[in-house]
Amino acid sequence: MRRVLITGGAGFIGSHLCRRFLDDGADVICMDNLLTGRLQNIEDLFRRDHFTFVKHNVTNYIHVPGPLDAVLHFASPASPADFERLPIQILKVGALGTHNSLGVAKEKGARLLLASTSECYGDPEVNPQPESYWGNVNPIGIRGVYDEAKRFAEAMTMAYHRYHKVDTRIVRIFNTYGPGMRPDDGRMIPAFFMQALQNEPLTVFGDGSQTRSINFVSDLVEGVVRLLDSDYVGPVNLGNPIEMSVLDVAQRILKLVGSGSEIVFRELPPDDPKVRRPDIRLAQEILGWSPRVTPDEGLELTLPYFRAEAERA
Ligand code: NAD
Repeated sequence: MRRVLITGGAGFIGSHLCRRFLDDGADVICMDNLLTGRLQNIEDLFRRDHFTFVKHNVTNYIHVPGPLDAVLHFASPASPADFERLPIQILKVGALGTHNSLGVAKEKGARLLLASTSECYGDPEVNPQPESYWGNVNPIGIRGVYDEAKRFAEAMTMAYHRYHKVDTRIVRIFNTYGPGMRPDDGRMIPAFFMQALQNEPLTVFGDGSQTRSINFVSDLVEGVVRLLDSDYVGPVNLGNPIEMSVLDVAQRILKLVGSGSEIVFRELPPDDPKVRRPDIRLAQEILGWSPRVTPDEGLELTLPYFRAEAERA
């Protein structure tokens, strides 16, 4: 039986990964300090065999008894709202947390998959962004804590691969959404859903013409599983190449919810990327992967989750 450690396993993406690996017959150790994740995301998993939850901050030394086949390092706050609230924790989990995750992978002879991000590309000068693009990141800006932590994490992962011969994979994740996101985490999709459901104005930053490409979580999880099982070491983009303006996303959510909320515009935060769209030719070629869920389908699949969250609020 395959034994996997998933750091950040109580978070949005991590909890979907825990569920997928359990469904695929693996033994899953979910490690999380609940900084931005929630036990609610994994509540159903405690009843299942082969699931273990360990509350631990991965910026500290990681010890796991017994063998491990794979480490998926997904621990890190990921919302722009966290960049101001948790800057040091973000830098530490990207740097020390990645170092410790690589350390346990090396000790166990396990494969490590790093959750990196499209934010490595910063405010890009090329659109769409291929893996070969080195990015346009402001290291000292507010977003720098996240972007640079992930760039460091990629560098550390490649160093462990080259120097210690650890078997590694790197996924550059583009905006992913779906059930399990914290309703108040500050990201665009939870914010728009909660505002629309609570009949509050939808806050769009700038004039809303900046673009994003949104990928439904089940498509991301499928790509991550395929990448882990591939033999490709370099970074691979996983995202949905359908590019939409932020205003368009807000309008789609308003229509889907059937809400009478108005849209209000707020000042654009510094270094906000103007465009964001993955070039997914590499993932198509080496993983045979393409997203299957359209944005409208994915938003519809997400609505019941936020409806329940809004009722609870
Ligand atoms: P999330 O905040 O829901 O999940 C992150 C999890 O990591 C949380 O459960 C949190 O408690 C945990 N965590 C944070 N610091 C920790 C620490 N020091 N020790 C142990 N656990 C810690 O966010 P998410 O959207 O699920 O993101 C998961 C990963 O995917 C992150 O690494 C993020 O950078 C990456 N990513 C996500 C997106 C996206 O659109 N959702 C895009 C690019 C990259």
